[in-house]
Parts: sequence; structure tokens; C-alpha cells
Amino acid sequence: MIVVMKPGTTAPEVERVSQELRSWNITPEKITGKNNAVVIGLVGDTAALSLHQVQQLSPFIEKVMRVDKPFKRASLQFRHGEPSTVFAETPNGFVAFGQNHPVVPIAGPCSVENEEMILETARRVKAAGAKFLRGGAYKPRTSPYSFQGHSEKALRWLAKVRQITHLGIITEVMDTADLEKVAEVADIIQIGARNMQNFSLLKRVGKINKPVLLKRGLAATIEDWLMAAEYILSAGNPNVILCERGIRTFDQQYTRNTLELAAVPVLRALTHLPIMVDPSHGTGRAEYVPVMTKAAIAVGADSLMVEVHPNPAKALSDGPQSLTLEQYEALIQEMAVIGQAVGRWPQKFPRSTVPTASHRHGVAA
Ligand code: PEP
Ligand code: MN
Repeated sequence: MIVVMKPGTTAPEVERVSQELRSWNITPEKITGKNNAVVIGLVGDTAALSLHQVQQLSPFIEKVMRVDKPFKRASLQFRHGEPSTVFAETPNGFVAFGQNHPVVPIAGPCSVENEEMILETARRVKAAGAKFLRGGAYKPRTSPYSFQGHSEKALRWLAKVRQITHLGIITEVMDTADLEKVAEVADIIQIGARNMQNFSLLKRVGKINKPVLLKRGLAATIEDWLMAAEYILSAGNPNVILCERGIRTFDQQYTRNTLELAAVPVLRALTHLPIMVDPSHGTGRAEYVPVMTKAAIAVGADSLMVEVHPNPAKALSDGPQSLTLEQYEALIQEMAVIGQAVGRWPQKFPRSTVPTASHRHGVAA
């Protein structure tokens, strides 16, 4: 349920209504949208409340509406149509993810293989224009005999690269036991496709305030995915970014997964959360990555995460889908063309937009 306050309602009146709701065992979440309009999202057993009963609380209530989706906090309705911004803090300042911000380019290898390769990759993708370096320390591999990642050693290399290059770091956490170590290095914590419904992990990342990149499960419906996001939001962390990375379909002969680009406009209609696309896992083939990257920008993705490797033929994981550094440099130029066409690629990228305190808690100013 959401309560839309009339324009110009004073802060003490909003607080009085909130207090009243708390006395009913309902948790009010205040959202300030466009033109300072105040919306109060109600969390708790709202089924027992009538719209009329809530409306009676104040003459300053414009309307009361039910959120009819099972994903309450993740729903666009919950923010009364206002997209949210997720700010990730990097050594180079804050980077904003969301519909009202420039497209954020992210690149890096599937796994962090050694110090030299990760540093070289970081330097090159940064020079090309990427805002984050991605790289796995803990790898979720289908076979237990495949390379599993260099774990803590890789985290140390990532920390060093972060210090040297000032790039933001995205790396995956697979186990609640590793969260603290991963969160020390990562500016954005990735939950991989295979863990999208690892509910204990979701609840755990919901207890921290760092942005969480929630990849779509291999066979997850959009609703499964948004319910997974709801676990993180309901545990208290509003900073969730969704990542479409392809799903299993009947035809996987020529691509590794089926990249569902239609998920972008569908999510736009359902949720306020920022949307990323990963065309590398989405196709599994380097030759298809550039065109799908550009298509993803055209359909409105807020961020693109692309796997790159200095020598894909020798990569310890996901070589066939990795671009060379040169290919990424060329791709980012083409991304800029599409980004400019959709008005989301500024001449000069805003490097250190400092969010207000309320932004950092997921509330739009
Ligand atoms: C990855 O990002 O390298 C990865 C393992 O992705 P996914 O969880 O989408 O398969
Ligand atoms: Mn990978």
C-alpha cells in the first residue's frame, strides 16, 4: 500500500501520519519523488487495512493505493513511478546507476587470474572509459574439476588494482562466510545467476548497505527475480541493481544462453530498480557481444557489463565469450554512438556526483 501526500504537506504532518501507522504495526517508508512530492510506502500486514481507514488519517493525504504485485518494495508502484538511483562509491567518487543517469560501462575478465593480467586489464579498460572493473575471485563453475578462482589471493590483487587505478570493483560472493572479505574489496557485490535464489545469501547482503548486483537466475522468471530482489530490499538494503545475463531456452545450439533484451522494457514497467545487461554470458560468444551490447543500450539498459581478457584463447574461464582489450576499446566507441543517440552518454562523464544522505539510503531527492 502507498500513501500519496498532497503537494506542500509539511514534514511534521508526514511524521505524524508515519507515527500513527507505526502504532498500527506498519512500517512507513518515506519516498520523496519529483517536485518534492511525498509518498509513504507501507510495509507490514496491510491486507487487514482498508484504503478508507488510511485515508482518514490526514486531510493532507491525496490518495491511498494498494501495490498489487507480490514484490512490494521492488515494484514501480511502491515509488509511485519514480525510478531509483543506486550510488556506488568508488575511489574515484560516486557512480550513479539508474534511468536518469548515463549508461555505466563495466568490463573485466571472468576470473582474476594473476596480478599482472588484472592490472593490465584494469588500466586498459579504464583508459577506454569503463567505470568499474569486474573479476571473479570465487567462481561458480559447473564442474568441480574446473578452475574455481584464486579466492583470497584474487581479492588481494583486486584491492591493489583498485588502489592503483581508482576503478570501482565488482566481484562475486558465493557464500555468506566470505561476505565480509568480499565487501572489503568490492564496491558492488555480485550475486551470480546460480545464487539468485540462495535466500540466506540474499538476506545476508540485505544487511549491508553496499550495492548488490543481482544476476538473473538461469531459469528464473522475471517475477522470481524480482522476488529475489525483494529479499534484499526487505532485509534493509535498498541498493539493488538487476542484471539480465540470459536464460535457458530450448535452443542453445548457437548461443550459450538466450539474452532476453525484452526484459529491459518489461522491468522498466514493473520496477524502479536500475537495470544492467551482461551480453557476454547472455550469448557466450565473443563475436555476438558487440552487437548485443549496442542493442542493450538502445533498449534502455542503465549499465553494460562485458567480459574482456588480454588473451581470451588462454583464459582460465569464459575465454570464448571474452573480448580482447582492443575489441573492447573499439566497442566502447560504438557504445558512445548509441548512448548519445538515446541521450545517455555525456561528452564528459560526471565522475564524482556526491549523493545526498537520503540518496545513499535509496531515496530519490
Ligand atoms: C560471471 O559473471 O562471471 C558469472 C559467473 O556470471 P553468471 O552468474 O551470470 O553466470
Ligand atoms: Mn564469466
